[in-house]
Amino acid sequence: MARHTLVLGAGMVGVSVAWHLRSRGRDVTLVDRREPGRETSYGNAGLIQREAVKPHPFPRDLGDLWRVLPNRSIDIRYRTGAMFAEANPLWQYWRYSAPQSFARIVPEYASLIEHCTAEHETMFKAAGAEHLIRRDGWLQVFRSLDIFEAELAEAASLRDRFGVTFERIDAPRLREMEPYLSDRAIGAIHWTNAWSVVDPGGLVQAYADDFVACGGRIERAEARDIAPNGKSWCLSADRGAFEADELVLATGPWSSTWLGRLGYRVPMFVMRGYHMHYDAAPDAILNYGVMDFEKGYLLTPKRAGLRLTTGAELNTIDAPPRFGQLAAAEEAARELFALGARKESEPWKGARPCLADMKPIIGAAHRHRNLWFALGHGHQGFTLGPTTGRLLGQLMDGEAPLVDMAPFRSDRF
Ligand SMILES: Cc1cc2nc3c(=O)[nH]c(=O)nc-3n(C[C@H](O)[C@H](O)[C@H](O)COP(=O)(O)OP(=O)(O)OC[C@H]3O[C@@H](n4cnc5c(N)ncnc54)[C@H](O)[C@@H]3O)c2cc1C
Repeated sequence: MARHTLVLGAGMVGVSVAWHLRSRGRDVTLVDRREPGRETSYGNAGLIQREAVKPHPFPRDLGDLWRVLPNRSIDIRYRTGAMFAEANPLWQYWRYSAPQSFARIVPEYASLIEHCTAEHETMFKAAGAEHLIRRDGWLQVFRSLDIFEAELAEAASLRDRFGVTFERIDAPRLREMEPYLSDRAIGAIHWTNAWSVVDPGGLVQAYADDFVACGGRIERAEARDIAPNGKSWCLSADRGAFEADELVLATGPWSSTWLGRLGYRVPMFVMRGYHMHYDAAPDAILNYGVMDFEKGYLLTPKRAGLRLTTGAELNTIDAPPRFGQLAAAEEAARELFALGARKESEPWKGARPCLADMKPIIGAAHRHRNLWFALGHGHQGFTLGPTTGRLLGQLMDGEAPLVDMAPFRSDRF
């Protein structure tokens, strides 16, 4: 008889895990309090970031720290109370971001990223969701020549080490590609082997639909407790209890509560982010996803409108929203492109699930049998969901995984 597996959390990561486990013949139930892909995996910028071979370190350069300290920058903001509440994981994040340690982390992280487009392709072809994917990359746009040149040198080094591809786009070519960007944009790096998605939540839903079409089950329920029951696992929820041979925790930014309850000391915190959709001004069109690199936000064409996503807000997950960062990003975006009116009354808010060493945990829980983790994907969980599903399936079936999984074990802290 097929093993029965519960997957808790139907974001990009949990849905991808459930999809892979089902395709390997397991009897899989995916549990979430909401429809698939309605939380963090809904509101992100929708980039499948083949270029993101370097995770985001804590700023350690004095100039950067001075810039961030007044709490007015667009790319990073913080709430002082949250810095105290999360002092331990943030301190560890600072330490892992030291140059020597970060240099070790980059190739480990890149070993996952390398597979992201191929793994998405397997899933979106199976799910008939190719119409949601754009394979034409995105533009990292610059306002100053010296920063442009420095980032081009960095991009060349990433190309040589990790196979990312890019083109240098000088101002005249940029005007052809994006005729409605203002002259403040003096050049861009076009990341050519990255992809984007016009409806991120819709892609997760398409993967979930395919999982169901292949015999998987989805239950709408709010988990209250999870506990081992002999060799199996019991998940108690508001709508009854679920019992299974094994359990996968894929609860994104809500994972630290579960980890803590089960006795895992994992340095986890969240980096919140916001989005808002806009109309373009009459006749103006944005062709590509555009990151205003020196300001720190992204503007991406989506089905719902032009989606402006913010950088990181160091805050606790449930603290009230603070819309200043989005307002500042909007002001900067209006310098670059003729944005029209806001399309929603209130911005969307979400939280990136971050671990101090900037890498997810993918694999067996080291203190329990038949418990597995797929969590902590930080800034690239949308990119890495399908890769995570493939890898966890291989580990759960005792196969040699696609990449060395030691850097992603749960007992590394
Ligand atoms: C502004 C912003 C922009 C981003 N841009 C990108 C990008 O361009 N590319 C990229 O790769 N990544 C991006 N990210 C990061 C990415 O969105 C996340 O890493 C990813 O969505 C995490 O997926 P997940 O499945 O782990 O979590 P989620 O999508 O949050 O899913 C977790 C699920 O667990 C469920 N859950 C939790 N607790 C319970 C419970 N008790 N009972 C039942 N269900 C529960 C939730 O309902 C939720 O559906 C961005 C993030 C933000 C905030």
